[in-house]
Amino acid sequence: MTDIQELLLSRIRDVADYPQPGVMFKDITPLLADPAAFTALTDALAEVGTRQGATKVVGLEARGFILGAPVALRAGLGFIPVRKAGKLPGATLSQAYDLEYGSARIEVHAQDLSADDRVLVVDDVLATGGTAEASVQLIRRAGAEVAGVAVLMELSFLGGRERLERVLAGAPLEAM
Ligand code: AMP
Repeated sequence: MTDIQELLLSRIRDVADYPQPGVMFKDITPLLADPAAFTALTDALAEVGTRQGATKVVGLEARGFILGAPVALRAGLGFIPVRKAGKLPGATLSQAYDLEYGSARIEVHAQDLSADDRVLVVDDVLATGGTAEASVQLIRRAGAEVAGVAVLMELSFLGGRERLERVLAGAPLEAM
């Protein structure tokens, strides 16, 4: 493990049984409150975007906004929010995906992405991979290419990587 990985890991707080029994919640607020750790994470994610030749950063609501926006600025790229349904005022593309109980829907402004774009998707935690998978589908439906997905951390036991790699079709999934 590198010094940066150790720093990042030390700033993630495990909260048991939140938001429901049996879930170990990965709270990144201590990391956000530490400028050295937040800068290190921003730099590492921005390096992924640069290396992958991304033209845009998509952040997934809500913690993907907090991480994705500074990453986009650091890499000199535009930032595009992918939001939960009903929050964006313009013409949107919408993608439904299954949750453990029920389903959810995410949306993007259709005009924010074009066939010229290569998109890096940024979020804090990859769990089942459902949200990231839906965002990949959404970006492709907008006509853009997915350069890759970058997350702070993945919960490997939930199988998100396997699920996501099936739709990524060779584009990389990177966890810091
Ligand atoms: P999933 O679609 O299952 O991969 O869930 C990913 C989304 O839910 C991400 O936006 C995470 O912020 C959030 N999430 C899921 N599980 C956790 C967890 N154990 N700790 C923190 N965030 C989580």
